[in-house]
Amino acid sequence: MNRRNFLRTSLLGAAATVVSPLSFSAAGQSVKQVSQSGKLNLSFQPYELKLRHAFNLASSQRTTTPGVQVRIEYDGIVGYGEASMPPYLGETVASVTSFLSRLDLQQFSDPFAIESIHDYMDSVASADRAAKASVDIALHDLCGKIMGRPWYKIWGLNSDNAPCTSFTVSYDSNPDEFKAKIDDASPYKVIKVKMGLGHDKETIRAIRRYSDVPVCVDVNQGWTDKDKALEMCHWLNENNCLFVEQPMPKDMIEETAWLRERSPLPIIADEFVQRLSGVRLAAQAYDGINIKLMKSTGMHEAYKMAVLANALGMKVMLGCMTETSCAVTAAAQLSPMADWADLDGNLLIENDLFDGLKIVDGKITIPDRPGIGIIPVS
Ligand code: MG
Repeated sequence: MNRRNFLRTSLLGAAATVVSPLSFSAAGQSVKQVSQSGKLNLSFQPYELKLRHAFNLASSQRTTTPGVQVRIEYDGIVGYGEASMPPYLGETVASVTSFLSRLDLQQFSDPFAIESIHDYMDSVASADRAAKASVDIALHDLCGKIMGRPWYKIWGLNSDNAPCTSFTVSYDSNPDEFKAKIDDASPYKVIKVKMGLGHDKETIRAIRRYSDVPVCVDVNQGWTDKDKALEMCHWLNENNCLFVEQPMPKDMIEETAWLRERSPLPIIADEFVQRLSGVRLAAQAYDGINIKLMKSTGMHEAYKMAVLANALGMKVMLGCMTETSCAVTAAAQLSPMADWADLDGNLLIENDLFDGLKIVDGKITIPDRPGIGIIPVS
């Protein structure tokens, strides 16, 4: 199926969902009105995300991110999902489409059997987290549309508590290029930068020439000397930074715990923690965790991670990959549970497929639409 046909059929599916949830609500009925004889029909299509600006990391630069768009149709209602595969995660278009091709969702007649479907997916393969997330997101979109409610409401969350999102700016040694990136960030109340690239302090100094907003720092495991890391944490604290994400390699647990004890800024785990099973261990060395749907296998486990982190007294950060508004808006449903959010993936691409969350005065605004809250834009 080409992109046009994929979207056309998606649009037809979306049109059906506009009617169905309202009719269920008007009748005072719930999911029971949906035929239980239906089958879950999964379809998917690779879709390359084009970045507005080249993304600079440790020793590489990229201008695109591979992705796979997913739809699950059930009784004329369509749920949308997405897998995004930045290279460091280890998943590819080939691995995701291979995993999805192996799934037989038609054995399930109830789209609300999300946990059972996760158990099934884990039995098919233990890894493939982004691929599983794409199915999970589509199921949540589908179930929310059947119920006629967005997921933040189903979870009973208060959208007023959604935080501001940070906006990622990658350093550029060309002052004009860097200034253009800072200008792009001007609507946002928080800037996020990558560090561990050999020009850490210069990055902050360059930002401060143009902006005084708080800065989130993501080191991507780039510091290996704990004393230098502590010195940087103090320096960043004096320069209006909020926290430091994954300062040291994920296997340097003792050094990270040492740093956490002394740092004036919270230390947040990203690469260290993927799924629910890693949260308790993270509590030994980190002040908080960065939850991302592509790591957690989707919304179902991400919600559990946020609940557990809160119970352990940890901070919750909500992050994303380079994604369309599909996965980003799905993550936004959880944002009222987060202390900080970095949900800018859709803002970094020039070929978004959906209309979804909005950033108003820097703050995440979750659409008041059923499911994950998106509609196709073309
Ligand atoms: Mg990170």
